[in-house]
Amino acid sequence: MGTVIVGSGLAGVTVAEGLRKGHPDRSVTLITTETLGVYPRPLLSHGFTREAQREKLILKTFDALRAQGIEVLSGAEVLAIDRAQKILRYGLANGDALSISYEHLVLAPGSAAFVPPSLQGQARHFFTLNSLADLDRLNQRRKAFLDKGAKPRVSILGGGLIGCEVAADLAGAGDTVSVVHGSDRLLERVLDAEGSMRLHQHFVGIGVSLHFQKRVDGIQILTPGDSPASMAFTESGRPVTSEQDILLVATGFSPRSDLARRAGLKVNRGIVVNGQFQTDDSSIFVVGDAAEVAPDPDKPGTLYPFVAPIRSQALHLVGLLTGTAQGEWTPPAFKPVLKVPGFKLTPG
Ligand SMILES: Cc1cc2nc3c(=O)[nH]c(=O)nc-3n(C[C@H](O)[C@H](O)[C@H](O)COP(=O)(O)OP(=O)(O)OC[C@H]3O[C@@H](n4cnc5c(N)ncnc54)[C@H](O)[C@@H]3O)c2cc1C
Repeated sequence: MGTVIVGSGLAGVTVAEGLRKGHPDRSVTLITTETLGVYPRPLLSHGFTREAQREKLILKTFDALRAQGIEVLSGAEVLAIDRAQKILRYGLANGDALSISYEHLVLAPGSAAFVPPSLQGQARHFFTLNSLADLDRLNQRRKAFLDKGAKPRVSILGGGLIGCEVAADLAGAGDTVSVVHGSDRLLERVLDAEGSMRLHQHFVGIGVSLHFQKRVDGIQILTPGDSPASMAFTESGRPVTSEQDILLVATGFSPRSDLARRAGLKVNRGIVVNGQFQTDDSSIFVVGDAAEVAPDPDKPGTLYPFVAPIRSQALHLVGLLTGTAQGEWTPPAFKPVLKVPGFKLTPG
């Protein structure tokens, strides 16, 4: 028995490494669906211009974590939490069903890409970008066009942080890119109207076409046939762009909370925890994209889906579990940064 951590993203790995550091006698197990190693998700949105550096995306192999004394079960999906017996049940790709006991359980399952309900039944026609495996699939599809000397035509649904970063990167890689957005301006939650306008002009300058105030509710196959076929996002049955080769949905994130919900833990938008990341089960903690931090149990909590607060959460939890920190977590001051080459959020 010891600490078992679910998820090998920033949150899970920071907790695992922190618990081992200086505590060599502590048993730490990391269970993850990933098989490729530890990589920073923010770099995925630069995975088109920097495709040649694909190998450099892996920051650390799972063997390197094992060498630190962390037991890593990779390619393993946690399917259920038996809270009464303090056992996790997980499955391997070969169909094996296994279980492991825990003393403390840290859930760090992150988030999945949010897909609007109207598109959920058409998943085979579009891509999302949330993992290295997603990036590899997208680049494989682009390669089918590049190998023929054709520029892939890519339509991105969503003009938020990820949609804009990916649009800029794909344009930089030479693709023909369009962004389809529900609002009347880009990044309306992060930029003021002037900032959106400057980003708009930057995109026009690099050849990205923009389509605003589109209520996309479907996908139309314009040239039927085996993959690749040409298609477009639609609004009330009408295509909102010309024919596209690749559709990418970048409409936000959805905390992975199903496992916790099935185990009877409190779930809102994320898995609800107090200011010390503790769920309503005192031996189960949550950090990262999946955690909804609610210091006041009578008020809705807050999600912190960015690198800086997540690293801070993970380090604070390590301190609480090892007795080197006390009290509630205070979120660090941070601002989301838009990674679009050639565009600065503020002049100068
Ligand atoms: C394309 C992209 C660009 C981004 N850019 C930025 C940026 O510029 N700046 C910024 O601050 N943030 C950025 N973010 C957000 C940031 O990457 C996330 O907030 C952060 O990675 C979340 O870390 P996490 O550890 O909570 O979850 P994740 O990194 O999502 O990791 C969760 C892990 O849990 C595993 N897992 C899930 N369920 C199970 C299960 N049942 N069993 C076993 N394993 C499971 C998953 O395989 C995964 O490895 C970006 C995100 C994306 C997708």
